[in-house]
Amino acid sequence: MYGYMGKMVFVNLSKNEIKIKDIPENWLKDFIGGPGLGARILYEYMPAKADVFGPESMIGFIAGPFNNTGVPLGGRYTVVSKSPVYNGWNDANSGGYFGPTLKKAGFDAVFVNGIADKPVYIWIDNGKVEIREASKYWGMTSNAFERELIKDLGDNRIKAAFIGPGGEKKSYMAAVMNDGHRAAGRGGSGAVMGSKKLKAIVCRGNQKVEIADKEGILKLNKEIFKFLKSHPMIPLMKKFGTTGGFIPSLLSGDAGVKNFAISLEESGLTVEDFKEVGAELLNEKFKVDDFGCSACPVRCGAFFDVEHEKYPMKHVSRPEYETIGWFTSSILNTDPVIMIKCNELCNEYGMDTISVGGTVGWVLECFNEGLLTKDQLDGIEPYWGNGDAVVALTEKICKMEGCGEILGYGSQWAANHFGVGHDYLLVSSGIEMAQHDPRRAPGYIRTYQLDPSIGRHPKGGLAKANDRMTWEEKYNFRVTGFQDVSEIANTEYINNSGLCIFSIRMFPEGSIYKFLELVTGIHYSRKDIREMGIRSFTMRHAFNIREGLRRKDFTVTNRMIGKPPMKAGPLKGITLDEVRLGDNLYNALGYNVDGVPSLDMLELVGGLECVIKDLYPSKK
Ligand code: SF4
Repeated sequence: MYGYMGKMVFVNLSKNEIKIKDIPENWLKDFIGGPGLGARILYEYMPAKADVFGPESMIGFIAGPFNNTGVPLGGRYTVVSKSPVYNGWNDANSGGYFGPTLKKAGFDAVFVNGIADKPVYIWIDNGKVEIREASKYWGMTSNAFERELIKDLGDNRIKAAFIGPGGEKKSYMAAVMNDGHRAAGRGGSGAVMGSKKLKAIVCRGNQKVEIADKEGILKLNKEIFKFLKSHPMIPLMKKFGTTGGFIPSLLSGDAGVKNFAISLEESGLTVEDFKEVGAELLNEKFKVDDFGCSACPVRCGAFFDVEHEKYPMKHVSRPEYETIGWFTSSILNTDPVIMIKCNELCNEYGMDTISVGGTVGWVLECFNEGLLTKDQLDGIEPYWGNGDAVVALTEKICKMEGCGEILGYGSQWAANHFGVGHDYLLVSSGIEMAQHDPRRAPGYIRTYQLDPSIGRHPKGGLAKANDRMTWEEKYNFRVTGFQDVSEIANTEYINNSGLCIFSIRMFPEGSIYKFLELVTGIHYSRKDIREMGIRSFTMRHAFNIREGLRRKDFTVTNRMIGKPPMKAGPLKGITLDEVRLGDNLYNALGYNVDGVPSLDMLELVGGLECVIKDLYPSKK
């Protein structure tokens, strides 16, 4: 089928077994790729309720049809597994070059189960697959590992999806890394790799993807590049990446202040105090180079050099918006070097900066409110704004040493362990919240709580529409389901095809959908795309249902919904009705109030026979 290599490889590390299979064409048509396809495959090949760290647990690495086809911004791949945090569905994606290289190596996807006797990596070289020993790489941090691997294989075209020491130690916040500093960060899939003693999937190849209409792609690319030239967002993204969002978010209340407890005006600080961590000054002081993902003309990433007596850093990644929010305003730190250092520690140890940042924010509030003591934190005294203490804490968490042995599992786990600080948690079923306050854009609370990949801000839904709404519309929770579903369907399409999420704001209206037909040769109407999106969401959700998770298991904490409401600032007085938003979504999707999809909706959407078989076994 055009756009795909048509093959997936299954590796069982307990049995040392490698099997190559064709991907059923109807699965490709029904789910396109990415997380939707991953959910269909894990549903088929991973037994229900498998122990997340046991041999039956499976992890997958999936490219999308746009990878390696020349579709701009079309280079993302997805990691799928069960999450150790909430024992349910997890998908996380990343840019860089791994996805396109996996296809060059001859495969659309790799799935791994079993547990190796000793550390291994999977070597995929132009269609050939091997399990190789990786003991010498175990314990290496991100850059050291990639450097050593490239040296050993003698080829700098190889690309790897790998874990750092965080994943090796099975931290629930461990990411899957690639291209040094890119991360499929959320949900703890890095720990699943670690539990299998799987250091990396390493690929190389020169195979080409057959495309239905090459000329059509070139023509559409021309139009898009012309459009991008005059798009106001492009120069800003090129120059600042996501860092440009921080100061506006601080003003609007989107970014957190003091662990999202208070507004900026109550903190005694002003925007002026944070100007050193704003986009302009960060670039001016530290930027030395830029970075872009495969097939992307935008190149929104950057590298920094930091000359500093205590924390000197060379060619480290510019932190993204989320990381800036967690490691500056959320902990009342205004020093950019502290924030860059914490980002670097997370990247090097292969940890999710959002979850680590959220855990650090929680520790600071607990310590400053007298709920955690210096003795419990290995002598560290993390007063608000104490940058050195924050670096020390982050290092302990990343290394899972001392108090990091507890904090390394995240804030929810630590709150349960210490028996304190539950009121200060900002988690959805245990996953730390991103720097998007749902009290500002209420759709986020629905996404954080009820997306099958729990706690994920880029997963789409109503929040994407909130910015186009008036204040009254935003906080009117009566009729939100239809719009929520439309936005979900768009995001499923973007994630499944391998597009970067920014494409939706950068490409001309409708063009992102044209690419699918040009690549695959199959005509998908907007109705088909919408149905595919609902099918894909439901497939991911059905994984959770099969695990025994129901709506009561998908939780958010009180502070996230404004209980009690903020006393001042732009979000003053706001309390959200997350139950109503969830009811509206489930209603619009055709799920019952507990989250179980109805037989009618499953039949109407189609392609979900496996789910019907499990939920409605008497149906012939
Ligand atoms: S816009 Fe940025 S994140 Fe998206 S593909 Fe381009 S470089 Fe990667």
